Amino acid sequence: MPEDMLLGFDIGGTKIGVGIGTASGKILASVKLPNVDTDPADVLPRLVAEANRLAKEAGVAVKDLKAFGISAPFPADAAKGIMIAPPNNPKWRNVPILGYLRDNLGIDGCFENDANCGALAEWFFGAGRDCRDFIYLTMSTGIGAGIVASGRLVRGGRALSAGEVGHTCVELNGRKCSCGLVGCYEAYCGGRAVALRVREELKDQPESWIMKRVKGDLKAIDMIILTEAVRAQDPYALKLWDEIALRNAQAFGTLINTFNPEKLILGTMAWAIGDLYLDPIRKYLPRFCWEEPRLACELVPSALRGDIGSYAGIAAALNHLKER
Ligand SMILES: [Zn+2]
Repeated sequence: MPEDMLLGFDIGGTKIGVGIGTASGKILASVKLPNVDTDPADVLPRLVAEANRLAKEAGVAVKDLKAFGISAPFPADAAKGIMIAPPNNPKWRNVPILGYLRDNLGIDGCFENDANCGALAEWFFGAGRDCRDFIYLTMSTGIGAGIVASGRLVRGGRALSAGEVGHTCVELNGRKCSCGLVGCYEAYCGGRAVALRVREELKDQPESWIMKRVKGDLKAIDMIILTEAVRAQDPYALKLWDEIALRNAQAFGTLINTFNPEKLILGTMAWAIGDLYLDPIRKYLPRFCWEEPRLACELVPSALRGDIGSYAGIAAALNHLKER
């Protein structure tokens, strides 16, 4: 019997990925469309047209695909499949993308936030393959989690917003977060927040290693530059790196004590930076969780790495079939 084929949409801040793949994770056809300053009235029909074109390329008709999945950023009404106000796309306000694609593709589909889709992609095709309990953390510009517990994706109650680990408070009266709260974990360890902090702290220090490295261009400061400064043993960078590791360990320890996961699968920063990022976290972890669940939990980088978006929508579709 031929394998089930699925259709995935990955709605990103700058690109939309559309792909067709098999239930075992073979991508048969895919495309990436620009998504900067786009109008959903133009994009939605384009998605349908691309789905039809890719299906043809993969040798099937859209109606023979088992389901489609949409991976989209929050804020969204996940239950209704409506994108509310995605970052970088001011024209995408209250877009009922799930209903539109269902009506125009004529197949069943689902809508899932991107961190959940990352977890599903690792579960079916990546580092979570043999797990019933694990947590995927995006560890990118922001920090979000997809939680799989007792063999099911945890979505939460009415808001379907479970997994927003990045916006749990780690510091009373702490740094302001982009979400409006204060002292969020993401405000200390998210890539964007770290870059903003370094810019703020070094703006009047032209002689610092980092400011010299970027030739005074504050906007050029990012996690990559900070990592370089750590490798160069710059004292400011080493101190900040240590604090980031400590706060990551605090967050991971809380998750380990709460969920007793078999793995924490870590996204962008973990696979891009590697042991320089992970080792100090491992060192601090015993301070923040019990030994037994800690020893039962592996900290691993994402296996799908930069390709995770290509699998996100397809994994959501596969999970949709599984839950149906
Ligand atoms: Zn926040």
